[in-house]
Order: sequence, then structure tokens, then C-alpha cells
Amino acid sequence: MSVERPTNFIYNIIEEDLASGKYQTTYTRFPPEPNGYLHIGHVKSICLNFGIKEDFNGKCNLRFDDTNPVKEKVDFVKSIEEDVRWLGFEWDGKVRYASDYFDALYEYAIELIKKGLAYVDELSPDQIRQYRGDLTTPGTNSPYRDRSVEENLRLFEKMRAGGFAEGSASLRAKIDMASPFMVMRDPVLYRIKFASHHQTGDKWCIYPMYDFTHCISDALEGITHSLCTLEFQDNRRLYDWVLENITIDGTPHQYEFARLNLEYVLTSKRKLTQLVEEKIVNGWDDPRMPTVAGLRRRGYTPASLREFCRRIGVSKQDNLVEYQALEACIRDDLNEKAPRAMAVIEPIKLVITNYEGSEQLSISNHPQNESYGHREVEFGPELYIERNDFAITTEDKGFKRLLHGGEVRLRGSYVIKAESYETDSEGNVTTVYATYDPDTLGKKPEGRKVKGVIHWVNAKTAKPAEFRHYDHLFTSKTPGAHDVHEILNPNSLIVLNGFIEPALDNAKVGDSFQFERNGYYCKDEDSTADKAVFNLTVELKARI
Ligand code: ATP
Ligand code: MG
Repeated sequence: MSVERPTNFIYNIIEEDLASGKYQTTYTRFPPEPNGYLHIGHVKSICLNFGIKEDFNGKCNLRFDDTNPVKEKVDFVKSIEEDVRWLGFEWDGKVRYASDYFDALYEYAIELIKKGLAYVDELSPDQIRQYRGDLTTPGTNSPYRDRSVEENLRLFEKMRAGGFAEGSASLRAKIDMASPFMVMRDPVLYRIKFASHHQTGDKWCIYPMYDFTHCISDALEGITHSLCTLEFQDNRRLYDWVLENITIDGTPHQYEFARLNLEYVLTSKRKLTQLVEEKIVNGWDDPRMPTVAGLRRRGYTPASLREFCRRIGVSKQDNLVEYQALEACIRDDLNEKAPRAMAVIEPIKLVITNYEGSEQLSISNHPQNESYGHREVEFGPELYIERNDFAITTEDKGFKRLLHGGEVRLRGSYVIKAESYETDSEGNVTTVYATYDPDTLGKKPEGRKVKGVIHWVNAKTAKPAEFRHYDHLFTSKTPGAHDVHEILNPNSLIVLNGFIEPALDNAKVGDSFQFERNGYYCKDEDSTADKAVFNLTVELKARI
């Protein structure tokens, strides 16, 4: 896969900044809130931030934006660390937390109060909203806005000491209630929450807001380019305002890029949380989930996700990426890396009436890569083949599989001819009886052309396996615009039971294979000693 340095507007800015000497090196950060698992949208941000570190020989921090203790959990912290590492990235130094800076943030808040740039407001959250106005109406000043510095210092200390009830006071920046930018209308900097924090315990009952925390954290860490998604464009004014009005050394700049929107996929932790909590899926790592954990369990590789991010690029233009763009990446990667094997997913019996005994056939593990070697596969008189590889009759002139009375080659083996078949009471074929031509092992049959090749497993040695076939969770390309209950795809998971060749017994959870003619599959953690479970990662060819 290509490892060329990408070109995009952010890389252009960085190149200019390095050339002009504005910065000597790059320092980026990935700042997730630990309130859920990472999803494919985060992967775009991770690849961008850590990719800059790699491409410019810079540094990148992993920083948990943990300012809202009510929704955050240490479990999420752990899963996020694991996902970033799994993608193949290393952060510099220890994991950072915005909460590492709570003491510093508190001091900066006091600096703003002393400069007359922040005040303790006793309007309720509802009143604050009403006073804020809207895009066409300027806001109204709070009656508490003109308190003296001394009074504000005293009341902020009272907030910190737990002297106010939740929602009865907040610290606000004193900027401009008539600003055309809503975020500049005296934004709240601190709110009261009597909640234990996963990192700071019960030390604080006031917690800083994202906009106040983020810019200061960036500056304290020496971040140069602070990259976020477009919805934070207006917040850049507040980001700069805070840093201009406090005494701090760092000079980070915020740049915004378009978030990833992917067809059929939700990229909002809040909505993904809903799927988990309402048990619409089986947890955060359900293979249908667009989480890193779900994609990994489905069989996606780090290389495929990084390649996906490289192909979609980074711009300022919002768009909707085709789902097939993601599938193409894993298909390309597994085509190269996944060993081939045979699995029969919807089996019918094939009895070869003129074959006796058994023999070992040597079959290639990868047609394009000799280094994958060969494996021995036992051939015998009773096999399983796919139900849809046999037809009694067909109108389809292109049908190259086994037709009643016709011939086909069994992969790596002989040419056989279907002589007769048996059906159940509903007319479904259960067994096909065939004869084989002993003179066709590794060579073409005499005097006739046999075009088709089908796969098989030996009924005597095959192991039972469960195959989980997945489709989109939603029937809409833009599920974020709907109530999820109204667009659930009832066929997003179909479980099938068939057989795998015995060589796959040694496969480990997470191993990927191309099951010939069926698709790429990955062994699932639900596998038991009696039955392997395989997830369909992606079909061999794109569905059109
Ligand atoms: P969500 O709405 O899913 O919770 P978020 O932006 O609130 O997303 P954070 O944990 O705050 O989640 O995000 C960490 C970083 O990942 C942020 O810099 C954010 O901009 C980025 N990010 C989140 N979603 C996407 C996306 N769909 N595409 C690109 N970057 C994203
Ligand atoms: Mg967020």
C-alpha cells in the first residue's frame, strides 16, 4: 500500500509554518472524551493527528477530554487506549488528561476574574439560555454581570467550596452578549457538578467547560496545530480569546476539517450508546458497529482503516463517503494477506459413487503468493458442496457450476459428473450423486471442456462452523437523520451453519481467511471447541 505523504490544506499550513520558522516542529493531539468507544470517524482524526507526527517527525499526545465526569468511565479510557495502539500509533509520553490541568485551569479562571473578564452568574441554566438571544436577536446582560472583582473572587471560591447548589451558579466569561457569534455571548467557563470524577475523585465540585479547557490544555502541552471538526469553527474565536487574555506561553492554533460521514453508518457516540443501551446490538464490539472494536471483530485490519483514511483525505468540504470505499480497502488488504481455505456455508451432500478410500491432495494457500505454501486436504467419496452450486436445470446460460447431467471440477481435485439427486419432502435437494473421472487430477479432461470449478469439504473430516453474515444496521444511507428504530435493517445479521476444512481447526480468534468463492471471514471470539464461528468481513466482490 502507498505510503506517500498526503497533500491537503492542513499539510500545506504545516509546511508553511515550518518553512517560515513559526514552529520548529509539529505537536498535535488526539482529544477523545471517554464517554464511549471510538468509531470510524475518530479513526479519521487519529490518522490525521498521528499521521502528522509520523510525516513531520513531530509529536502527538493522547489526551482525554474528561471535563464531564457524569458520562465518563475508566472502561472507555482503556478501550480508547487499546484502539489507538491497535491502529498502530504511539502517543508521546504518558497519557494526558484535561483533568491533569484542573488546578491550572482554576488559577486561569481567577486571572480572568481579576482582569474583570469573568463573573459568577446566578441565573439558572434555563435563564442563561433565554438571556442568550438567538441568531437574529442579541442577548441580554445578566443582572449579575457587573459584580465587583472582589465579589466574584469570593463567590467563585464559594462555588469551589460547595457553597452553591448545582445549577444555581456558574462562572462566565465577560465578552459580548450582542456578538454575532453565539459562543461569544458570555460563555459559561465553569459549572457546578457534585459528581465524582474517574481521575480526580471528589476533589472538585466545579468542572471547567470544553471551550475553556481545550485551548489551555493545548497551550500547556505545547501543541502547535489543534485540529478539530468543522462544527467548532465558531468556537475558534473563544479559543483565541481565552489564550489572549491569560498569561500562558503556548501558541497553538485551531484548524477545522470536515468530519467523516459514511453511508449507512452512525458516527455519533451518543447514538451508538443508544444502540448499546437499548440492546439493538450486542455491545460496543458487535461486528455491525462502526466502532474500532466492532470493525476489529468483524475482521478489519489496522492497515485497511489507515488506507481508508488516506484515500478519503482531509478537506474543509462536508461530504458523504460511499460505504464501498471502506469495503474496497479491507478487500484489497485481505486479498493480499488472507490465506485461502474452503468452507461450505449452505451444505448439501455430494456422494461420488465410483470413488473408494481416500487420498491427500495438496492445495495452494494463496494463488498469488507461493510463500503461503500448500496444505494437505483429504479427499473422499462423501463431500459437502454449496446448495447453490448445484442446479437441476437452469435458464442461465452463464451457469458454470454443477448441473444435473453436467460436469464441474472440484477445487484442487477431479472433474465430476452429476448423475442423480435426492430431495426432501419439500423438493429441496439434499444429496447429489456423482461419478468422478480418475484421469482429471491436475489435468484437463480428454475430449471435452469443463469450465466451472466449485469448492467442497470432505464430509468425513469437515468441522461444523457457524457463519455470521452481516449487512448494514440501517436501511438509510443517512441514519443520523432518522429515529434509528424506524430504519433498522431486519437482515443485518443472518446466521448460517455449515462446514470448514479441518486445517482451520488451528485458526486463532481474529485470524482472517478467504473462504474460496464465498468471501473474507474472520474467526470470532464466540467460537467453542465444538463449533468455530466466523464473521463475514466482506464479500469477494462489491455488490452493485
Ligand atoms: P461524538 O459526537 O461521536 O461523541 P465527539 O466529537 O464528541 O464525537 P470526541 O471524543 O470529543 O467525540 O472526539 C475526539 C476527536 O475526534 C475530536 O477531535 C473530534 O473532532 C474527532 N471526531 C469525532 N467524530 C469525528 C468524525 N466523524 N470525523 C472526524 N473526526 C471526528
Ligand atoms: Mg465531544
